Amino acid sequence: MRRIILLGVILSGLVLSGMMAGTVGAQDEVKTKPDVPLEKWTGKTIMLIGAHADDDAISHGTLAMFQAHGNQVYVVTLTTGNVGTQDPKLSRTQLADIRRQEELAALAELGIPGSHYINLGYDDGLLEFEDRKAVVENLVRLIRKMRPDVLMAWDPGKNYQRWHKSDHRAAAYLAADAARAAMWRLLFEGQITQEGLKEFMIPEYLFYNDYDFADENTWVDIGEYVEKTVNAGAKYTSQFGPGWKEYKAHPSEAEVKEMKEMIRKWIRMKDGKAIEGFRYYSGLPDGLGK
Ligand SMILES: [Zn+2]
Repeated sequence: MRRIILLGVILSGLVLSGMMAGTVGAQDEVKTKPDVPLEKWTGKTIMLIGAHADDDAISHGTLAMFQAHGNQVYVVTLTTGNVGTQDPKLSRTQLADIRRQEELAALAELGIPGSHYINLGYDDGLLEFEDRKAVVENLVRLIRKMRPDVLMAWDPGKNYQRWHKSDHRAAAYLAADAARAAMWRLLFEGQITQEGLKEFMIPEYLFYNDYDFADENTWVDIGEYVEKTVNAGAKYTSQFGPGWKEYKAHPSEAEVKEMKEMIRKWIRMKDGKAIEGFRYYSGLPDGLGK
C-alpha cells in the first residue's frame, strides 16, 4: 500500500515538472529585488488579499502611491469582519456592515474606488476551518479574471510557521495556494472550459507582515502619503478607535484626533523616512517560500 502511494507521488511530481518545463521557461528565475523600484510602477494591476477589512492598512501608504501613479489597485478581503468587537450590543450583521463601510471610507481616502473592494463573505475568526478548496477556487477565479501583475498578501514565509493570528495565517497560505493553482490549466478547469477564463501566472509578489519584519527586502518611502494613510486609518472606528468597546457611527472630533495620533505613531521610520516594508518575490509560485 505504502509503495503504491509513494509511486503515485513520484508520478504526479514528474507530470508537474514536465508541465512546468513546457509552460514557464525563463520566468522561473527567482528575484528578491524588483527590476523597477516600486515608486516607478505604473499601469500595473495590483491585487491585495487580506483576511479582514483593515489588513490592507499595513500597506496604505504604498497603496495610495500605487493608485496615484496610475496603477489599478484591488483589495480582496476574505472575511466580513463580523466577530472582532468588544461591544456587546453589536450583531454579526451590523458589524459586517460597519466593517464594509469603514473599509470603503478608508479606500476612498487613498483614492481607490469602491468598486475595487471585493469581499468574499467568510466568517471572521474561522477562516482556517472553511473548505480550503472552495476558498482557493474562489481566489483562483478572481486571479484569472483580473490577471494581476502583482499580488500583495500576508507573508506565508517562515514567520508564519510560528503561532500567528489564525485568520492571517490562513489568508497567507490561501493566497499563496491560489496564486499557485491559478497557473495550472487543469486545476479548476471548469473556470476555463465553462467560464471563458484562462490560466494565469502572477509574476510579482509583495508580502506584508504585521509585527515581525525580519524577512523584508524592499521598502517604500511613503512620506508623501502619510496624511492619506492617517486619514484612511482613522476610518476604522470599530477596530482601532473609540468604537471598539462601544460602537458609535460618529465619533467626536477629539476622538478622531486621538485615533489619528495613534495611527501616526504606528507609521514605521527607517533612516529618517516614513516607510512600509515588504518581502518582494518574483518567479514561479512554487518558489514563494525561497
Ligand atoms: Zn486582520
